[in-house]
Order: sequence, then structure tokens, then C-alpha cells
Amino acid sequence: QNAPRRGENVAARLELTFEEAAFGCEKVVAAPRIENCPACHGSGSADGVVETCSQCHGTGQVRSVQNFMGMQMQSTTTCPACGGRGKIIKNPCPTCKGKGKVRRNRRVKVKIPAGVDAGQSVRVRGEGCVGANGGPNGDLLVEILIRRHPIFSRQGTDVLCEVPVTFTQAALGARIQVPTLDGKVDFDLPEGTQTGREFILREKGIPEVGNSRRRGNERFTVVVETPTHLTGEQKELLRKLDGTIEVSPKRKKFIDNLRNLFG
Ligand SMILES: [Zn+2]
Ligand SMILES: [Zn+2]
Repeated sequence: QNAPRRGENVAARLELTFEEAAFGCEKVVAAPRIENCPACHGSGSADGVVETCSQCHGTGQVRSVQNFMGMQMQSTTTCPACGGRGKIIKNPCPTCKGKGKVRRNRRVKVKIPAGVDAGQSVRVRGEGCVGANGGPNGDLLVEILIRRHPIFSRQGTDVLCEVPVTFTQAALGARIQVPTLDGKVDFDLPEGTQTGREFILREKGIPEVGNSRRRGNERFTVVVETPTHLTGEQKELLRKLDGTIEVSPKRKKFIDNLRNLFG
């Protein structure tokens, strides 16, 4: 009853942008917690007088002996005089109504480490509820949520994105611009790139938590966009072009499979 006990933890949630989670930041989080009442300094008494309960001698529990069908039954129950607290306060503090504790809304500065991911919690030691009988405070646990990014998603420390290119860029190769967390970078798309092909930009990903000099990669996927709304003239040019191109390996294999299956 009178042993020191650690205070309870307090949970909070914090929504970050993709970049804030990747590179870390400092945020202020609303975190209500139970503290010692400032008016009575946690005693619960308006005049500072707290007596030990004479009925239970401060243990908060009383033993009673009952006769039950000729047998002596011993049981332990919560002390009715002090309600289990072991103390009697004759003149309770009006601020906390004798509880000694109050709930306070606080705003706590939280340092978010680079690389933190959605669903992880950042622990702030000692920012939880006050402990009992001189026990330490609990902690504040801030659960991380990450807002959707218009371009990037992540898989662990790797950044993923899609880069649309034209049919001609994919066929002929081109210098394209690829977005990364550090800004746009030039990339030489090789000739004959197929749609869905993935390229890797080393160390353009997200830093590791606690070791921010190590970063994941960016993996971007090329998406070839088929031209639409072609004019008659453009269509004619494409037909002429198509007649001169030999069948590509994937299509050749597909045609062979069709023939084997259906004759
Ligand atoms: Zn008080
Ligand atoms: Zn008592």
C-alpha cells in the first residue's frame, strides 16, 4: 500500500509528413497527465494534516472473523473507515477534493528521430503520470502516423515511386528527372526500357533510426504511357513504323504459347 509505485504511461498520437518522418523533427504534443495537486503538494489535505487510519493502522485493509455454520471464516476486506487509503484527511484540499492528484493538460516538446515509421512509438521518459509514494513518473509514448505523400511511399528504409515516361523516351532512351527526398536528380533512362522496370538510386532512401548516416535506397518504377488522342496522320506514321519493327521477345514468346495452346 505504501510502497513506491511508478506512475502510469500516457499515450498520444502524432501525425507527421513523409519528410518529417524521414529526416526527424521537433514537435509539440498535447499530453494530459495526472500530477500532484499544486495546492496541497499531493497530500490531499488543506491544512497539511494527514493521519494514519486508526482502524487499519495504515494498511487499508481489515481482517474480519465470521461464524459460518459453526466454522470460523477469516476474510480480508477494504477498510471501511479510510476506503483503503490507509490515511484519514479531516480537512480535504478543495482543489483536488482530497485526492492529492489533479489532471493537467500539458504540451510536451518531442524530438522525433530521423527514420521513424508509421506505427512506431517515440518514448519520452518521465513525461507520464506522477508516481505514488515517491515512485518515478511514467513515460509519454507518442504513436507515429504518417500522412500520404503525393509521390513517395516507403518500405522500411526504401523510398518507392513511379516515374511516367513517354513511349518514345522508353524506346530511344532519354535523360529524365527523378524526384528524390533530396530533390530532383537527372537519370539516363536506357534505350529499350520496358514498362514496370525498377531502377535503384543508392542511398537516396530513408535514414535508419539511431544511425542516420546509413540510408536506404530509392527504388523507382518506370511506367510507359501509351499515346492517346492521336491524329490520323500520327496513326499512319505509327502503322508504318510498326511494319518495320521485328517482333519483340516477350511478344514472340506469347504468340508461340498461343499457337501451342490453341493451334
Ligand atoms: Zn490538493
Ligand atoms: Zn483504514
